[in-house]
Amino acid sequence: MSAPPIHDIFVIGGGINGCGIARDAVGRGFSVFLAEMNDLASGTSSGSTKLIHGGLRYLEFYEFRLVREALMEREILWKNAPHIIWPMRFVLPYARGLRPAWLIRLGLFLYDHIGGRKLLPATKTLDMAKDPAGKPLKPLFRKAFEYSDGWVNDARLVALNARDAADRGATIRTRTKVIGARREGELWTVRLENTQTGDTEEVKARLLVNAAGPWVDHVLSATVGLNEVHNVRLVQGSHIVIGKKFDDPRAYFFQNKDGRIIFAIPYEEEFTLIGTTDQDYAGDPHDVKISDAEIDYLCAAASEYFSQPVKRSDIVWTYSAVRPLYDDGASKAQEATRDYVLKTDGGDGTAPIINTFGGKITTYRRLSESMLEKIEGFLGKRGKPWTANASLPG
Ligand SMILES: Cc1cc2nc3c(=O)[nH]c(=O)nc-3n(C[C@H](O)[C@H](O)[C@H](O)COP(=O)(O)OP(=O)(O)OC[C@H]3O[C@@H](n4cnc5c(N)ncnc54)[C@H](O)[C@@H]3O)c2cc1C
Repeated sequence: MSAPPIHDIFVIGGGINGCGIARDAVGRGFSVFLAEMNDLASGTSSGSTKLIHGGLRYLEFYEFRLVREALMEREILWKNAPHIIWPMRFVLPYARGLRPAWLIRLGLFLYDHIGGRKLLPATKTLDMAKDPAGKPLKPLFRKAFEYSDGWVNDARLVALNARDAADRGATIRTRTKVIGARREGELWTVRLENTQTGDTEEVKARLLVNAAGPWVDHVLSATVGLNEVHNVRLVQGSHIVIGKKFDDPRAYFFQNKDGRIIFAIPYEEEFTLIGTTDQDYAGDPHDVKISDAEIDYLCAAASEYFSQPVKRSDIVWTYSAVRPLYDDGASKAQEATRDYVLKTDGGDGTAPIINTFGGKITTYRRLSESMLEKIEGFLGKRGKPWTANASLPG
């Protein structure tokens, strides 16, 4: 009997980052095995606000690198997956007593100019007394700014990355939990459990990628056996879905009195999606659920703007997810960095593991390229970055 194959890369986690990394790696010629303990995108990657965006708000926290990279990704991702990603215009009403108009204009000027925008239309000012976007809002909002970002079917983006990775030769296993990983010199032996049958097996790989999202620290301590790990800050975010609140195809960007912002977005033709929140989270990410306080917060924040208030009884569905942010010591959850961080352990004669923290759906492709740079530092160069000009299937 021949010995089982040794894979170049073993990826833990079938969210956007794990699937994006697997696709990029297999396309460069690495052999890749990915295990997802539930279904693809069953973690944070199906619970996002579903925006392909630069993140206007992050400019206030001087996250220029992240915003620029994310802005540049908008048109690249749109070009490669126009069936699940499309442009969307956002209406940001000026609200007296909150951010001054000059600050919003400055932010939007940067937004329009630092991200290589070619096809998306630029920002403009709206007279809300005349523009249809003013109709569902209270008449006190007389002026607004309209700018561009994008919309994505987040779960489908994950599935298409996995599909493409599999078509190119990667092994993608769902319902397969990594229950242990041990180093044997320069190789990893990864222990897997089929969560439906309970069957176990072992797979060998040269390098381990930990893309377990909110479980990234848990995988490091409980599965890989590395102690003293505390890299991730878990921040819950929730959304409410109500019946269609307005007919306009544009979304709204509302500023709140606490300095946060929420979006109200046309959703699935008959609905409006409102979110999100930011609160530190301590439980199992799979158990995350909207709280009463979050429902009250979202209803109240949207009701500051819409002339017809948003009531609890309007809610038809809610969903929540946990952001796996890199713990940069920020005092408030909303201020913790949204940028990604890749951290390596081993590699000097021992099998390496590279862990991913933070990031956005929007930046998954660039995160994957950064990951591949690190991987190639250990396993040698195989191919060039290729995903910027490669369509996703479907
Ligand atoms: C409320 C909210 C709104 C957001 N809105 C946006 C937005 O509009 N735009 C944007 O760009 N980004 C947004 N984000 C950020 C984005 O959703 C996340 O950064 C991204 O989805 C994280 O992906 P991931 O692959 O790292 O994690 P996940 O999607 O959670 O994937 C990790 C996977 O690892 C699996 N796993 C864990 N442990 C194991 C194990 N032992 N064995 C096998 N598998 C395992 C899990 O089941 C999970 O599927 C938002 C996030 C939140 C929470």
